[in-house]
Amino acid sequence: MPAKILNGTAIGAEIRNEVAAEVKTLAAKGWRPGLAVVLAGHNPASEIYVRSKVKACEELGIFSLKLTPPESVTTQELLHTIAELNVREDVDGILVQLPLPSQVDSKAVLLAVSPDKDVDGFHPVNVGRLSTQRPGLFPCTPSGVIEILQRSQIPIAGKHAVVLGRSDIVGKPMAMLLLNRDATVTVCHSKTPNIKEVTRQADILVAAIGRPGFVTRDMVKPGATVIDVGTSRITDRGEFNRLFAGNAKREQQFAEKGSTVAGDVHPEVEQVAGALTPVPGGVGPLTIAMLMANTLRACKMRRG
Ligand code: NAP
Repeated sequence: MPAKILNGTAIGAEIRNEVAAEVKTLAAKGWRPGLAVVLAGHNPASEIYVRSKVKACEELGIFSLKLTPPESVTTQELLHTIAELNVREDVDGILVQLPLPSQVDSKAVLLAVSPDKDVDGFHPVNVGRLSTQRPGLFPCTPSGVIEILQRSQIPIAGKHAVVLGRSDIVGKPMAMLLLNRDATVTVCHSKTPNIKEVTRQADILVAAIGRPGFVTRDMVKPGATVIDVGTSRITDRGEFNRLFAGNAKREQQFAEKGSTVAGDVHPEVEQVAGALTPVPGGVGPLTIAMLMANTLRACKMRRG
């Protein structure tokens, strides 16, 4: 039986509706959550991401502020901008869109964001809060994965979760969020030998490595839940055929655009997994929904 497809678009919309309803309730108290987005220079992909974040704010009744320093901005100038945002009353969340121009010390800038306004959850203080199970702001994409599991009634406690990837943004916080919910967690990375032996033990397999179609059916325990975080744009015909040969919708898209977006999980996994997130339409929509949820959370935490 093919896997149950976990609809991230629907779950993301549900979370956004919940956030919008709470924003309305806060408005009655005279509070309005606010998000400041810092977009330095001209990176076309970043501009698209920021546009969708600002649009989400507008739709949910969250105040948004977009700051666009030029490509030539210095570390000092950005630190000054962050310092101003840290003390602004109408700003609850600060998001510094990465990558920053190459002359900027990105780590110094991210470290300057007040941990209580760090809606990306990247600040070491929030990393510490996550790993010591204290209230804080945690990274949006892995938090979204937890929402998908919980809202799909997929148990986490006592299950063996295997996370592929150990980045600070996805893999590590993902492992910690699962551990905090009582999963037994194994993290794999590029130096892990015999990955297949490990992934085959997973009740929950989260793939976040950015290697299209890496997870094949022989790597998955029958009935396992497979969460595909990966997003890679495929332009090579041979690669396309390996993943999507015979898929009419993808064929049409590839012919029209010359590319398609693929996850880390090969489509054949649908035949063995119990549940699976699609790409697109799986984890992706949760990231912005969780950014909105984090902004609301930051607003409530700051006001006690
Ligand atoms: P990243 O910083 O490049 O980290 C990739 C991780 O995968 C590293 O830990 C790396 O291991 C590991 N890895 C790479 N190749 C591997 C292999 N062949 N076998 C085992 N492990 C391997 O990437 P990221 O930022 O975590 O993102 C991962 C993927 O998620 C990307 O496709 C990204 O686009 C996607 N993503 C999606 C969303 C969303 O909203 N849906 C959000 C964020 C990221 P080492 O540490 O040993 O190098």
